[in-house]
Amino acid sequence: MDSDKIILAVNEVYKDLDGQIAQIALKSGMKCPQLCNACCRKTDIEASPIEFISLAAWLYENGKVDDFMAHLDQNDETGYCVLFDSEAWKNGKWACLNYEKRGLICRLFGFGYRLNRDELPELVTCKVMKETLPEAVSKARLIGIETPDEIPLFRNYSMRLYSIYPELAVRQLPINKAIRLAIEKLYFHYSPRMKRESIE
Ligand code: SF4
Repeated sequence: MDSDKIILAVNEVYKDLDGQIAQIALKSGMKCPQLCNACCRKTDIEASPIEFISLAAWLYENGKVDDFMAHLDQNDETGYCVLFDSEAWKNGKWACLNYEKRGLICRLFGFGYRLNRDELPELVTCKVMKETLPEAVSKARLIGIETPDEIPLFRNYSMRLYSIYPELAVRQLPINKAIRLAIEKLYFHYSPRMKRESIE
């Protein structure tokens, strides 16, 4: 599969996922409290490179790769996701520098479900949500049991990404490494020289 097709296929997966999550939020009442960023304040988040193919494409298409890579080089060792802005809340902003292009784990966490040992759906949510919206969390748990075909399952979405490009989806890596590999993967696709050669 060529890179354009990979990018389109991943965007399609994210569109479906965002739709399902919006439905869960609507039906249950679950919602992140304004400017919460507790789930990003972690230094051990893992992801696969394919989750950030859309981000990488956006960076190339908007001429932002060099600046972004410099930012990544400077901040990599902190362990925090390079897209996490810990000071954003002070300016009334959410903490993700590119929320639109965030990874699968970032989309699913809080609102996604996994299957337990008995193959029953279990909501994977956070302490913040459990403490601030206990009724909504209970409703979301019930939705998982009553309508298992309509919930965002971690397993299903991981498998969909895997089926697009296994090599980029099979390994879970520290999140910044995953982002870096996604950017490197698209280097030749967006390289002006390579593009010119493919036209000539
Ligand atoms: S998923 Fe939980 S921790 Fe993350 S922003 Fe939402 S409420 Fe906060």
